[in-house]
Formats: sequence, structure tokens, C-alpha cells
Amino acid sequence: MVDYMVSETILDDLKSQNFSFIAHVDDIDLLNYPEENYVHASIPLYDLIDHIPVAAARKIASTHCIPGSSAYTKSVLKDLFKTHSCSQCASHLSVFMEIPEKPITKLRNEQ
Ligand SMILES: [Zn+2]
Repeated sequence: MVDYMVSETILDDLKSQNFSFIAHVDDIDLLNYPEENYVHASIPLYDLIDHIPVAAARKIASTHCIPGSSAYTKSVLKDLFKTHSCSQCASHLSVFMEIPEKPITKLRNEQ
């Protein structure tokens, strides 16, 4: 059994910009994002949408079989996500990548 990060925890981190949204995938595609390098989180779409680009939100909407989603704005999508529930919700997780707090400086000449 895999323990996923508690949604509230990652939501706090998302707000402080420590994570970058990578993908919203089912458990098969999730294998492309090993946990050594990525964070898997189950976040309600309604909360997730505040932290992702509109293009990603539209893609997620179409994954969740919300019709006409390619033309919707973020606020319309957020409204739809509020009441949304489907079979994809249970099988899909969001993938994030942790952003290092300090920028990695590798410019120094080490020779
Ligand atoms: Zn869904």
C-alpha cells in the first residue's frame, strides 16, 4: 500500500510555491513519475485549479469527461470542478515536482 501525501500538506506547499504541477494521470501513467523524483497527491480538482495553468485545467477537464472544456475560462472550470465527481476522480492523481528552495549554483568552475 502506498501512502500519498496528505492533501492539506501539499496544498500549503503549493501556496508557498515549493511545488510545480507536472501532470494529472491515472495509476498506469503514474509509473512514468517515480516517487524518488516526483510527489503524488490526491487533491480535489476544485483546489488544484488555483495552482495550475488554464491549459492544464482544460486538459484535466477533458480527462474527466467535462464537455466543451477547451473553451472555458479558469473560473468557469473551477465552478464545474466544485460539483464534479466521476470515475476518473478515483483513479487519477496529480504529480508535482519539488522546487529547491535555494537555486542550484553549478556555474563555479571546479577544475
Ligand atoms: Zn472526475
